[in-house]
Amino acid sequence: MANHITQSSQSRIRQALVTGSLLCSMALFAMNTAVAEPASQIEAAAQAPGLSFSYINTGHSAGTQERMVVASGSWFTRRHLTHGAILVQHPDGNFLYDTGLGQQVKSQFKENSWWATLLFAHSAGTPVVEQLAENGFDSKDLMAIIPSHLHWDHASGIVDFPGVPVWIQQSELEMALAGDAPSFLQSQLNDQQINWKTISLQEKPFLGFSRSLDIFGDGSAVLVDLIGHTAGQVGLYLKLSDNREYLFIGDTTWTLKGIIDQSPRPDLIKFVVNLEHDDKASDLQIKKVHQLMVERPKLTIVPAHDELSTAKLPLYPMFSNTAEPIAQR
Ligand SMILES: [Zn+2]
Repeated sequence: MANHITQSSQSRIRQALVTGSLLCSMALFAMNTAVAEPASQIEAAAQAPGLSFSYINTGHSAGTQERMVVASGSWFTRRHLTHGAILVQHPDGNFLYDTGLGQQVKSQFKENSWWATLLFAHSAGTPVVEQLAENGFDSKDLMAIIPSHLHWDHASGIVDFPGVPVWIQQSELEMALAGDAPSFLQSQLNDQQINWKTISLQEKPFLGFSRSLDIFGDGSAVLVDLIGHTAGQVGLYLKLSDNREYLFIGDTTWTLKGIIDQSPRPDLIKFVVNLEHDDKASDLQIKKVHQLMVERPKLTIVPAHDELSTAKLPLYPMFSNTAEPIAQR
């Protein structure tokens, strides 16, 4: 929480920086290298039939140079990061991981200063709640919404599901409720109809992460501790009945390139909006996920905003058990 932006006194500096950087976009920044960590303890999850998932797209960023979203990125590659959610169906319950851009994103976004509006410019699509309704899915059939974290682009749609339990770690909720724009938008969080349910990850190692929570108790959907980007970010591991495995890593990095290259967000971005709760912890998580990718090549790593990674997922209303086999990266 201490690292989160609250210092209005810095706004003018950042404003100037954003203006300069966005207009010029020519500065180069030192690339942070992740800190080494001992080999991960890899656990095999039990096979569990019946789980399927779908990616629900709710919009995309206006577009930026790749070098602006990952330190190892190219100034000559254009990226259009995506905003979306994962709908998981399981015999014991259905849940959303993240909510993407919701019905009220336009009014929510007005909390931002002009420079943040410019930096996080986006094009909103159809919100999750509307896509579900269009396909006959009753929101009351959701047992939970599990945000990876509560930054605006993940929490926007929570208010569209009044009463649905929102599973969140206490540390994340406290950070968000004490936070401000552009990272956290209080209009997304202070609605009395939001049904917050705090959860605690268990001291149970899973895939090299020290803490985890097996949602259904069968190893098919497991939350893992990805603290760093925020105080209580959680990743989601899914194992399908045909043994395909996925790890959704929230905003540990914005692109898969960040995991492959072990490269964090650019220093400029981190300074301007101070997105990281804990830089060192965040770098360690990048290192950990990279190592996992190397050790477990069939595990598909999915950063929440990587439009290239999410394009390979079954797009709602298609589900993983109804789509054609998905090409591994
Ligand atoms: Zn995000």
